[in-house]
Amino acid sequence: MDFKDIIGHEKVIEGLNKAINNQTISHSYLFEGEESIGKKRLAYAFAKMLLCKGGKEIPCNSCSSCTKFDSGNHPDFFVIEPENNIIRVHQVESLIKEITTSPYESTRKVFIIDDSHKMNTESKNTLLKTLEEPPHYVNIILISSSSNNLLPTILSRVQSIKFYPIEYSKIIDLLVSDHNKSPEEAKFIAEFTKGAIGRSIKLSNDEGFFQRRDEIIKIIEALINGDKTKALSAMDFFNENKEIIDEILDIFLLWFRDLLLFKELGQSHLLINKDKLENLSFQSKVNYSRINDIIVRVQETKGNIRRNVNYQLAIETMLLNIGGI
Ligand SMILES: [Zn+2]
Repeated sequence: MDFKDIIGHEKVIEGLNKAINNQTISHSYLFEGEESIGKKRLAYAFAKMLLCKGGKEIPCNSCSSCTKFDSGNHPDFFVIEPENNIIRVHQVESLIKEITTSPYESTRKVFIIDDSHKMNTESKNTLLKTLEEPPHYVNIILISSSSNNLLPTILSRVQSIKFYPIEYSKIIDLLVSDHNKSPEEAKFIAEFTKGAIGRSIKLSNDEGFFQRRDEIIKIIEALINGDKTKALSAMDFFNENKEIIDEILDIFLLWFRDLLLFKELGQSHLLINKDKLENLSFQSKVNYSRINDIIVRVQETKGNIRRNVNYQLAIETMLLNIGGI
């Protein structure tokens, strides 16, 4: 894998290439930006370049370093990730131990700390000492979607590189060409994930995703028609999808957002559920204030579930409210 395999992030790549060519590589970087937009993938590609022993073109993809990197067995490459959502001090300590010994294969050692904002206080303080004066052969790449949770003293010691979501059109092209999606499906996924390429690919390969949306549209239709039996039986669907309730409620929200748009503009390129015009048209009899109420309800339900209120109760209340039952 190298920069050629990365979609988007042209500015970031240009900057890192420049640093390599001018030999102005920082000892510590922070790759920051929203979740699932490709920061880690790019960090891996950069690490491979830093470790490559090849000549003019790096990564050369043929030296022993590149081979070992691709097989996942590079002795000078380390990745730390949260364990049960926390990066604990023993993980940082083992990183520091590795930092103090010279590289085996390459002329550098590269360390990636993924979700670095998940370091606990002890971990952050321990890492800080290392960031102050790392050995010359060390490069550390912190990755974070929430860098304001890192210590200012850490932030002042790293070169921060900002990542932005990828243009929808690039994601759409990729999903159509490599992931077997129709242009309509690809567009829906790219807009649904707001340009998060990793999540887009994951949803593309999730066979049930569009079925779930169809089921949600059916449930909404029944609720709007005041179909009490269907409203209550919808609970089964929510229980089956408890683990991905955020996704389910986001599909709800997008649907009602589209319904508002459809009422305002009719058929429009701004619609995300553009392939469901018939259903939108059928439901457009619902008045504005009811749609706005429903959106507020669904958002409240999302918040309540995050705060761990009783799941069953939260969903039932939402369904009954949407249905005006
Ligand atoms: Zn190489």
